[in-house]
Amino acid sequence: MAGHARPTSLTETDKSKIPFPDSGIDKVWNYQPGAGVADELARLKKVEQDKLKRLGQAGDAETMPAFIRSSTVQQAEQEALKLGVKSVDYRQHLDIANDVNDIFEQIIQKGEVLPHHVDVDAAAFVLWGQQYQFNPDRVPAAFWADDQTGDTYFYLNPTSSYWLNKQAQAKHEHSTGYWATDHQDHPIWHELGHVMQYDNSPIAYQAQTQLTPTELAIAGKVSGYAQIDVREFVAETFAALSFGKTLPNDVLTLYQLYGGLLP
Ligand SMILES: [Zn+2]
Repeated sequence: MAGHARPTSLTETDKSKIPFPDSGIDKVWNYQPGAGVADELARLKKVEQDKLKRLGQAGDAETMPAFIRSSTVQQAEQEALKLGVKSVDYRQHLDIANDVNDIFEQIIQKGEVLPHHVDVDAAAFVLWGQQYQFNPDRVPAAFWADDQTGDTYFYLNPTSSYWLNKQAQAKHEHSTGYWATDHQDHPIWHELGHVMQYDNSPIAYQAQTQLTPTELAIAGKVSGYAQIDVREFVAETFAALSFGKTLPNDVLTLYQLYGGLLP
């Protein structure tokens, strides 16, 4: 048996048996006659790329179904309840209802939280209106609030000029550096960023809100709005990340420190 001892470890392949010793790569069993190693590698690369392409298409189809707009306010309210809000009142504002539901659906797909209650109500914005002499450009399109029980309330202002010219307003606010993105839905995502921070980390939300001078410089990499305080920094960063913006590491570290979630 001495001449046929079972090998106890892998032995190196005899170099003389490798057909292409320079590349170190053997030709595979189904290689085309006449083709070189480079041809074979190119063929394998294409096979893998086609596989990846098919996977990508399947993934897109699964995670990004097209949003279907409701044709009545009642239907839109049912959709919002189905998505998980506790109460909703879209009143007669079907366009706003559909815009908000579309965003809520994306929030759910990202695994993030919705506000508990949603209300399209100009009356909730009267205080701002008085402060700014009812100039619609100065009154926000949306804000949020919490009650003592931890429920969150999302208010939308149907009289805001934002709804009439979302794209132009977003482009303008971004061009001055005030908003982190020029996406027309930016202000809605920004407000939902506050809801996310509150829900994810009420302690971080209620802790001191002033940015230190160092943090102020970091927040400046996001937007002017983000420099107001910790909460605006988190909300602006949330909106920027939600629209796929790439942000530097010091921004992401600070964002997570204050209860921000990465998408
Ligand atoms: Zn804000």
